[in-house]
Amino acid sequence: MKEFEKLNISENILKVIKELGFTKPSEIQEKTIPLALQGKDILGGSATGSGKTLAFGAGIIQGVQKGKGIQALVLTPTRELAEQVARSLREFSKYYNLDVVEIYGGVNINPQIRALQRADIVVGTPGRILDHLSQRTLALDKVRFLVLDEADRMLDMGFIRDVEKIIDVCPRNRQMFLFSATISIDIERMSKKYMKDPIYISVESYVDASKLTQIFYDVPQNKKFSLFVHLLKQEHSGLIMVFCNTRRNTDFLADNLKRYGLHALAIHGGLEQNRRNAILKSFHENEVYILVCTDVAARGLDIQNVSHIYNYDIPKTSSEYIHRIGRTARAGKHGKAINLVSQRDYENFRKVCEDDSLKIKQEVVPEVEALFVNFNMKPRGRFGGGNRDRGHSDSGSRGGYRGGGRGGGYRGSGSRGGSSGGRSFGRRY
Ligand code: AMP
Repeated sequence: MKEFEKLNISENILKVIKELGFTKPSEIQEKTIPLALQGKDILGGSATGSGKTLAFGAGIIQGVQKGKGIQALVLTPTRELAEQVARSLREFSKYYNLDVVEIYGGVNINPQIRALQRADIVVGTPGRILDHLSQRTLALDKVRFLVLDEADRMLDMGFIRDVEKIIDVCPRNRQMFLFSATISIDIERMSKKYMKDPIYISVESYVDASKLTQIFYDVPQNKKFSLFVHLLKQEHSGLIMVFCNTRRNTDFLADNLKRYGLHALAIHGGLEQNRRNAILKSFHENEVYILVCTDVAARGLDIQNVSHIYNYDIPKTSSEYIHRIGRTARAGKHGKAINLVSQRDYENFRKVCEDDSLKIKQEVVPEVEALFVNFNMKPRGRFGGGNRDRGHSDSGSRGGYRGGGRGGGYRGSGSRGGSSGGRSFGRRY
């Protein structure tokens, strides 16, 4: 607690920190809070789970006056992150009695309009914020603190123009925080354009690299599911998150895992909010231990005790990869990131491996029982009829990934399998 006190955090916030049982500040908190309290703009290189909400929240909560209009605006890429950040800010500010209001799409706008009338701090996603602005149900003229949380994700999701429109509506005389797991050229450009002499604070990922094992299997597409089930059955010590690049794949996987007695739930942006909340609740309460998700659905979710991350599809960028693996090996625990790389993933995997800081070791694919996979549920899916990558034999992975996790590339010309184009309802995979 002494270390928190040294950061000049107010008594009211210190009380909450004590109640929450935080014993010492995280690195981002230690570096950010003193500068934030001096009114500096902060550009933070920091991922989910680093404790950044308190890092930017402390200064905001101490600086906002109750009942004087919306003085702080936090932009997040997803509604889940908006809810999570709002929940944390509400908790940290409870002895100030501040009104923290979250606004995001996919739900009725009217309760939000009512809540906004008494809001001190607003947390929201860009689309819905713009809706409120155009309906004049949100006034940003009193904003003194502006936060872009997970800015890289917002840009990846194509929100850049929306975000810029919102920034333009906020008063120029404001303190700004921009947090991003990766500082890309676009992020740098934004910080130059909108921030005043920002101080760059980078923290080591909360993920403890010495406790995180990263491996990959170069597996033929037609063996991928069988290998996946084999690995899932072999070891699991905590919660498992499985990442796919498309909604359809999450459903495909969750459905087929159930056939093999592995109770998995899929979460993606296409689900109703209530359903998403229910899924997260059962995952948190350990009713299910396998969550199959897309990046969008998983973004910013604060899920503890994830022991394994599977990339069933390899993400397109190293920043996405880092976000995914950042969910395990946290807070001193061990974690494993397992990448299932097939021919269709080579290009993405090559891009991921361009990040030299990532050490991904190749493992030999073990002999596994070929499992029957049902495509019936999603006949038009990526794995369904006419899939150009679908191999019909074990030679499905022509070529092979070269490079032992570094650089890599293709070997051989890799003629494509799966030319039949017929619908495939049930196949050993
Ligand atoms: P955040 O990155 O702000 O979403 O925080 C991630 C998780 O870490 C949340 O569950 C916080 O409640 C928790 N947390 C934040 N700061 C600390 C701290 N100093 N010590 C322990 N846990 C913390």
